[in-house]
Amino acid sequence: MTLKEISNNLSKRVFSSSELACEALDKAENDAFGCFITVADREEALNAAMASDKRIKSGSRLSFLDGIPITVKDNILVSGMKMTCGSRILEDFTAPYDAFAVKRLKDAGCIIIGKTNMDEFGMGSSTEYSAFHPTFNPICTDRVPGGSSGGAAASVASGIVPAALGSDTGGSVRQPASYCGVCGYKPTYGAVSRFGLTAFASSLDVIGVISEDPDGCAAVFDIISGRDVYDSTSHDLPENASLPMSFAVSDELYNAASEKQRRAVDKAAALLSDMSWKRVSVSIPSIKYAVQAYYLISSAEASSNLARFDGIRYGRRTDRECESVEELISFSREEGLGKEVKRRILLGTYALSSGQREDWYQKAMTARRLITDDFKSAFTKCGIIIAPSVPDDPPKAGVVHDSPLEIYRSDIMTVPASLAGIPSISIPFENKGSLPSGVQIMASADSDRELLSLAQKMYMMRKASE
Ligand code: GLN
Repeated sequence: MTLKEISNNLSKRVFSSSELACEALDKAENDAFGCFITVADREEALNAAMASDKRIKSGSRLSFLDGIPITVKDNILVSGMKMTCGSRILEDFTAPYDAFAVKRLKDAGCIIIGKTNMDEFGMGSSTEYSAFHPTFNPICTDRVPGGSSGGAAASVASGIVPAALGSDTGGSVRQPASYCGVCGYKPTYGAVSRFGLTAFASSLDVIGVISEDPDGCAAVFDIISGRDVYDSTSHDLPENASLPMSFAVSDELYNAASEKQRRAVDKAAALLSDMSWKRVSVSIPSIKYAVQAYYLISSAEASSNLARFDGIRYGRRTDRECESVEELISFSREEGLGKEVKRRILLGTYALSSGQREDWYQKAMTARRLITDDFKSAFTKCGIIIAPSVPDDPPKAGVVHDSPLEIYRSDIMTVPASLAGIPSISIPFENKGSLPSGVQIMASADSDRELLSLAQKMYMMRKASE
């Protein structure tokens, strides 16, 4: 059932929020896919659901989401619940307050079912870099669910909740959604406040939504978006922006994808033509620098953002005897942080160090400017750009990769929109019976609502044609 159907059934009292929450908690507690790091306290969640039932019964429902169970990625604060970011170093950290998005969801009457598994600090593409346990893809259980919001995508794909909050720095909502056969939406940078989202790369981080259909993403986005005084980059979206009815396929991304992903894009293009959208061609040549620029910029920012996890200000402190503060920090970080996180901190520190900064960080920033400008100029010629969401099928679980670069390269489809700060949604477009694969639809900054509504139309037409 989609979020909309569930919400309508709640208001018609076909079933109650308590029944829904109870079922979601049962599934979460017995979940075989490893979606969760923490499942919510049963009594607390059921009390919230009962309060919601009372409101619905008395005709004072708070919002369309009142009574809806939802999951939250474990790098977003939910007051009183553990928040680990998938890292040993935060194993014992309890959130002292709610993130802006979470507060909005609670105020709207949502029931939080649990905190979902993720690659440590959002760094990874498979959820196998969680310090606790991997998550498996509920659609094809021998494969990874993608990442870093793999737990979030799996919690929706396995039918535990109709919507999940994730975070997307370079694709972490769109890519796992594509691998798990659901919709994953990354809003315009700043459309949702980052207050209470643990920073990975602050200039790229966005809270996003995973749901069965784009309408589900839109319903959650409506509640969590908007200006927040605690995040100076947050802003309200303009009313009634419009999308010109023309589209382009990014050849740069199309050509980097497997035959199967290309076929999915071909289908999406045919569908848009059927909907009377005009196909034009645009070029975004700077996409060739996107992966390199993304890894330099995100690692540089991460090296600074993660400095606070030192066993003193934040994070688990080493038990070892230490002779100095430096040693204490060093031991605590050595024990508490995983290999991939350390790799990025080293890369980022190097890229920012004096004598190297101009050659690496500065050049990456120039590439980012080119990418942003190329997208801007492309959007003067078309309303949306479509591309594969991922280069290939979800990889098999448990395969050890020798080269991190191989994994980094697979982010090619999603990092361009992140660097440009534009909204993008991945919707399923696979053939019946084959492994999930999504198509990504990108639009100009701040046209989120129009993008979501177009995505819903495409989703419905695609469904009807099955
Ligand atoms: N896979 C990318 C990375 O490892 C994206 C992560 C993200 O969006 N959080 O950096």
